[in-house]
Amino acid sequence: MENTKEMRSWLDDMGLDHPLVIAGPCSAETEAQVMRIANELKDTDVNYYRAGIWKPRTRPGNFEGVGALGLKWLQKVKEETGLKTATEVANRAHVELALEHDIDLLWIGARSTVSPFIVQEIADALEGTDKVVLIKNPVNPDLSLWLGAVERLHTANIKKLGVIHRGFSSYEKTKYRNIPEWQLAIDLQTRFPDLPIINDPSHITGKRDMIFDVSQTALDLNFDGLMIETHHDPDNAWSDAAQQVTPDRLVQIMTDLRIRKESDSEAEYNSKLSNLRAQIDILDHQLIDTLGKRMKVSDGIGQLKKQKNVAVLQSNRWNQILGAMILEGETKGLSEEFVLKMFKAIHQESINHQEKIIKA
Ligand code: PEP
Ligand code: MN
Repeated sequence: MENTKEMRSWLDDMGLDHPLVIAGPCSAETEAQVMRIANELKDTDVNYYRAGIWKPRTRPGNFEGVGALGLKWLQKVKEETGLKTATEVANRAHVELALEHDIDLLWIGARSTVSPFIVQEIADALEGTDKVVLIKNPVNPDLSLWLGAVERLHTANIKKLGVIHRGFSSYEKTKYRNIPEWQLAIDLQTRFPDLPIINDPSHITGKRDMIFDVSQTALDLNFDGLMIETHHDPDNAWSDAAQQVTPDRLVQIMTDLRIRKESDSEAEYNSKLSNLRAQIDILDHQLIDTLGKRMKVSDGIGQLKKQKNVAVLQSNRWNQILGAMILEGETKGLSEEFVLKMFKAIHQESINHQEKIIKA
């Protein structure tokens, strides 16, 4: 994709002095609910009013959205409050209806991004539109799938593009509803620095208490905006009740967030920063050097095991190493989660090396 600068002109042209804010209920429930929340949000920093009209539910039997009727309510929101509107589209029919009702921003949901067929159908239906189109990450942590969706829309000549990071599902239960895997979002920013990236702390956390923290992390990582589910009576929302915040709480969150600058021109700041970065560079080289040496030793063990026909995986020894390193890591201020992840990766590389030797 060349000319990615053009993709963000819709955002730059808004000339905002704060992150872009997309807020509104998970689902449009009734006309009164949609209008009430919109009225409570109209004189805030909110730029786009979101509401799900067709709701993709994991299991059937839950509220599946009000359908096309809700698009009329969004039109009324725009007329009465001046807020621009946003909704999720998941097939050609949704796109056609959303365009007919002049919805300003359409997003592709996480369950759609996983399917190139669906993404292509949506891209074809949107071909050449001047609406803003945002692509949520796929439910599984697959950067190519996410980028592939952006490319399909770009190829369909959609000029106003962006992505939404809403976290990734996993079998493991964690404190998140969807694990953020920040590194993946950072990799995407590195590949396409101009592509606007919005964070969705609501679907990442699943819990309203955690929304502020995740939003702050996103801003610290130079995200361009936030999508936060907002409802006047969150506990009684028809979907995603636990993660929605009230309009008042949203305003408080926006006030409390520290908006970081991308850089600063002050000389002292810059010289201190380069000094610290130089130290990091040296340490990174040492890390790679040490890891290389460790692998050489591991190769030696592989040779020995091969001679004696002993299995590569020695669970007891591995558990011992892990336990000891977690304790030692703690004394250096390293979290158990990090030490575990790092040693799993090192161990995997070690196994790969030894497998190669044993099979040779
Ligand atoms: C939503 O934004 O309400 C939604 C369904 O999100 P996701 O596609 O991220 O699950
Ligand atoms: Mn939701």
